[in-house]
Amino acid sequence: MSREFIHSERIAYFTMEIALRADIPTYSGGLGVLAGDTVRSAADLELPLVTVSLASRAGYFRQRIDEAGHQCEAPDPWDPAILARPLQARVAVPIEGRDVWVGGWLYVLEGHMGGRQPVIMLDTDLVENAQADRELTHYLYGGDETYRLKQEIVLGIGGARMLHALGFKVRQYHMNEGHSALLCLELLNRYAYPSEELRPEDIPYDIPRVRERCNFTTHTPVEAGHDKFPYGLVQRVLGDFVDLATLQRLAGGDQLNMTRLALNSSEYVNGVAKRHAETSRRLFPGYRVRAVTNGVHPFAWTHAAFARLYDEHLQGWCHEPELLVRADCCISDDAIREAHLQAKQALVEQVQTVTGTSLDPGVFTLGFARRMTAYKRPDLLFSDLDRLRAIAHQRPFQILLAGKAHPHDQSGKRAIEAIHGYIRELAGTVPVVFLPNYDMAIAAAMVSGVDVWLNTPLPPWEASGTSGMKAAFNGVPNLSVLDGWWSEGRIEGITGWGIGDGGPGENDAVALYDKLEQVVLPLYYENRSGWIAVMKGAIAKNASFFNSHRMIRRYTSDAYMR
Ligand SMILES: *Cc1c(COP(=O)(O)O)cnc(C)c1O
Repeated sequence: MSREFIHSERIAYFTMEIALRADIPTYSGGLGVLAGDTVRSAADLELPLVTVSLASRAGYFRQRIDEAGHQCEAPDPWDPAILARPLQARVAVPIEGRDVWVGGWLYVLEGHMGGRQPVIMLDTDLVENAQADRELTHYLYGGDETYRLKQEIVLGIGGARMLHALGFKVRQYHMNEGHSALLCLELLNRYAYPSEELRPEDIPYDIPRVRERCNFTTHTPVEAGHDKFPYGLVQRVLGDFVDLATLQRLAGGDQLNMTRLALNSSEYVNGVAKRHAETSRRLFPGYRVRAVTNGVHPFAWTHAAFARLYDEHLQGWCHEPELLVRADCCISDDAIREAHLQAKQALVEQVQTVTGTSLDPGVFTLGFARRMTAYKRPDLLFSDLDRLRAIAHQRPFQILLAGKAHPHDQSGKRAIEAIHGYIRELAGTVPVVFLPNYDMAIAAAMVSGVDVWLNTPLPPWEASGTSGMKAAFNGVPNLSVLDGWWSEGRIEGITGWGIGDGGPGENDAVALYDKLEQVVLPLYYENRSGWIAVMKGAIAKNASFFNSHRMIRRYTSDAYMR
């Protein structure tokens, strides 16, 4: 490993997925984008991180929608050899009693301000391994329970060993979600007491010493969402890597719960928004769960037209996004409007090229794009088509949608199909377009080019959500259910608008229609300066705070330097 990266201590950031750039398909959604933005911010701020992830050579998948509105999944492979350098080290991990060899790649993320960050992408596709083992790092969130456990062994245990083999000096470990929590078992072994000093009733590991080194960010606000493995499976695959009594003490009595393991092995634990931290404290009583609200990378998510404006009026905003607090006072209405029109025009052209549909840049455009899964309620907007038509009859609007469903998520796939049915039913009154293959590039075009960004999750399932923060950087206000980051970011009528009261959500559809009809559309069409004031409010009061520079500075002061 080049001295540039190993001459001093680093924070080891472990993540199952990471969105490095649009043509490296090693991410499925928000968790991966967050990881990418974390590393991009670390590059700009020159913070010493080393990221550990998997090569995921097969990619996530490429989405196509057929005539009937079904999602079709095509492989989306990438070749690490083109964009990364092979690692010189190999390490072995124990799986089913044999050694599985782990190699990998060094991808160097180069920030737009010149900072460089090492990203280790582990890869078991080596001639030393049996064919099945060679595929362990191919499929992101692929395979069955056994495959997932093996993959998590490679990430956690293989990752920790690889850093050691490459000569990295690790100051602290940071687990981005529980997938990498098996790294704690590797550390337990590293900090085991000599057996001759132990009495039979003693715990054979220095657990406080492991906790001192570990930090854990949980992203899942509901019990069912946490990765769990039966101990029978764990013993068959991992053998006696760590004794069962210790495992049960740290990871739960009946099953190995990756979140419990990470919670019990980490001195610093946080949720990804204030509300999510509260939910996590209720879910895991007795743990101290702090809140560090997520953020997005300023430069990566700001359209060039807005970046030019900020460069002109708020010099230094890329390094210090707090400067955006002044956006409402020092940028003219016309300049904001002009920048937005450029972004909107670019989006309209992209939609035309990809789908053949012409949207009208003069018409109010609502955007919604995210993983298509039940709790995000992608069809809430379409619960009452007559009401939608009636609203559009008063003031016209159009809708742009995108999102992938996980290949095993049947309800997400049904939602995509249902949406295509609504598109046909609304044709002629409300133009609705679904852009296939949602990815970073489409996200960037959508969050900047629509007029309002919609989010309708079922509380309290949305731990944070980040796409709305991207919209804020582009002066696009949010219209969203009060969950995740929006519970903090919403100032009614100033940064955007809330839907409902953040409760269980039965009346959210009606609340959404009312807000759209009575507040949002009238302001857009009948009060131009009032509308631009909300655009500026989103920039000044949301983007200045909900960015990944602030987030990683918080991690640095509260977790890494504790
Ligand atoms: C930002 C982003 C997400 C996460 O958005 P949420 O609002 O958290 O759902 C998912 N996928 C892509 C491609 C993104 O860019």
